[in-house]
Amino acid sequence: MIPVPGFEGRRIAVFGLGRSGLTAARALKAGGALPVLWDDSVSSRMQAEAEGFVVEDLTVADWSGFSALVLSPGAPLTHPKPHWTVDKAHEAGIEIIGDIELFARALAALPEGQRPRVVAITGTNGKSTTTALIGWVLKQAGLTVHVGGNIGIGVLALPEPTPEAVYVIEVSSYQLDLTTTFAPDVAILTNISPDHLDRHGGMEEYVAAKARLFQAQGPAALALVGTDEEWGLAVESKLAVQGLRTTRVSSASHSVRSEEIVVSNGALAVPGQDEIALTQARSLPGRHNAQNAAFAYAASLALGVSHDAAVEGLLSFPGLAHRMETVGTLGRVRFVNDSKATNADAARQALTSYDRSFWIAGGRAKAGGIDDLEDLFPRVVEAFLIGEAAGPFAARLGDAPHRISGDMATAVQQAYEAAAATGREEVVLLSPAAASFDQYPDFEVRGEAFRAAVLALGATPLAPS
Ligand code: ADP
Repeated sequence: MIPVPGFEGRRIAVFGLGRSGLTAARALKAGGALPVLWDDSVSSRMQAEAEGFVVEDLTVADWSGFSALVLSPGAPLTHPKPHWTVDKAHEAGIEIIGDIELFARALAALPEGQRPRVVAITGTNGKSTTTALIGWVLKQAGLTVHVGGNIGIGVLALPEPTPEAVYVIEVSSYQLDLTTTFAPDVAILTNISPDHLDRHGGMEEYVAAKARLFQAQGPAALALVGTDEEWGLAVESKLAVQGLRTTRVSSASHSVRSEEIVVSNGALAVPGQDEIALTQARSLPGRHNAQNAAFAYAASLALGVSHDAAVEGLLSFPGLAHRMETVGTLGRVRFVNDSKATNADAARQALTSYDRSFWIAGGRAKAGGIDDLEDLFPRVVEAFLIGEAAGPFAARLGDAPHRISGDMATAVQQAYEAAAATGREEVVLLSPAAASFDQYPDFEVRGEAFRAAVLALGATPLAPS
């Protein structure tokens, strides 16, 4: 755990006692603060009390006694409307922060020269893959690395800072909204496309939240930005004008001013080196993974890793579960679990990676559904639709072959039978283009349901690499 100093003897309201909230409370207490906890859920409050925390009803508490509100990223700051604790904090004139900001302050309190370095990753898609990939490459190169944040272990639950360590932190836009001084040594914005707009109020606000990752960076820091979308390009241009060190990652070279890595399906063109071929990589298929690799390469070099060691790390990366993960094969049919594709843009990457696929899609649809994927329908031999979105997705697919399977087990069974019947090498692809919450607690459980259904067919599992 990372103790957070700076609030010694002061009362801090902590709302939302999920994993990150409780960890924040522990870290504050360890730093000498007096956290006061609350949550709508009685069982969460009981757990906090059992751990010896002060639990107080924040709806009736005296907010003038608090120095700050530490808010769970799950509670809305602005949209659809501010959480009631936000209104209380504003009335009391206190700051509203989150666990990433507490982490930033814990590091800033260390004497210069004693501070570990920080790589932070945000973006609409590719955050987790890029985070894990960077962690892997740095570890392979012999660095002391702690990976966490929005992926795996919450940031304040990571090991205490040591000068030689590197923290590799995935950060969501909700978490960024709760930062003011977070200043990563390397900050990465993978890409931006419309997502979570209900919580940010609109595209402009969503982009602004993402751009907060760079807000406190100094001239020695590095910003790596995916510039294939106009939004990323605008963010990068602004940073470059402000004099920040930036590198663009894009599919086409057009930079006149900034350093640039040009990405194609299976290769990276990096400054001053031969092209890096990714076709031999263990787990980086597709153009989108080349983009993730470009970020990892540039971040690693910025942290002193050699070109050769960085390339070696990229090629040996074993991949992440639920992201284009081959879970098994049966006869000539391969089963790919891309349960993490919770929006159309992510599913696009998966569908583009195969010339033909038997596509399992559906769940709780996001705004726009699969409208943007129409150009890829010809690659889908047949779609098998599940969950709430089955009806609307079926309507959108129109004449493209599809059927409503309803649930995962049925979809897997039907997709397998259809794929096996062709006698060719085929791929059954779960890439839902929708959230999982209608049928599952989260995308991981959905992916595990897919894996279980595949194995129940008698498929040979691929040993986790
Ligand atoms: P995140 O953590 O941002 O949700 P992940 O790395 O878990 O991202 O990947 C989520 C989904 O997005 C995967 O299904 C994958 O196919 C797709 N994806 C991964 N990297 C990228 C990228 N650079 N651009 C677009 N889509 C991507």
